Amino acid sequence: MCDLCGVSANHRPIDRRGVLKLGAAATAALTTMPPALAATAAAPPKPENVLSPDAALARLMKGNARYVEGVSKRHDFRHEREALSGGQNPFAAVLSCADSRIAPEYCFDTARGDVFVCRVAGNFASDDVIASLEYAVQVLNTPLIMVLGHEACGAVAATIKSIKDGTTLPGHLPALVAALSPAVKAAQDAPGDLLANATNRNVTMNVEKLKTAAPILKSFADDKKIRVVGGVYELRSGQVRLLA
Ligand SMILES: [Zn+2]
Repeated sequence: MCDLCGVSANHRPIDRRGVLKLGAAATAALTTMPPALAATAAAPPKPENVLSPDAALARLMKGNARYVEGVSKRHDFRHEREALSGGQNPFAAVLSCADSRIAPEYCFDTARGDVFVCRVAGNFASDDVIASLEYAVQVLNTPLIMVLGHEACGAVAATIKSIKDGTTLPGHLPALVAALSPAVKAAQDAPGDLLANATNRNVTMNVEKLKTAAPILKSFADDKKIRVVGGVYELRSGQVRLLA
């Protein structure tokens, strides 16, 4: 029984320092988290997913290598459904663009229950995304977060054009432009291709944002209980290039 959530859970208990860092509001929110959100099986449904942050990254990249070579595993979805009916313990979380060509589960050759995926055009960390990743880390024990950008990102390209032309896009698109503008502006004077530079910059800025997202993600990152890394997906090869 978890003292924090009040439900049977296998998530890692946060230490006293972590509780102090969480603050009253966050602690209250997690304490009252409904069982439907908080419950995980008493034992992790996928023991092979209990990994260190470094091992999780190595497994993710090995999966990408299989995908690139065209030797992805055959996944037994029927067996997975049964195993996962009582909970989940994904070994990685991915913040990806919504672009239909990316598909993180495919590009890392992972199965159900392996990767906790948040997707939004331009792969940026909104408050909703941060909250989702807090859930993955705090409740599901996920040891790794990857921010995954990609080549030829339409959201980044539209932001560049909007800034260059001084135009306002229709509908809700200005919200995307506002979120991606800091990366575009930061990359504006760098040599080379602006779209590629802004895409990289957007990834590294969001890695930093997640690492410093207090109280939960920052606490786990500072204590080296999770790693937050960035990558860019290459459309032709399918390769994910890690950014420093
Ligand atoms: Zn995109």
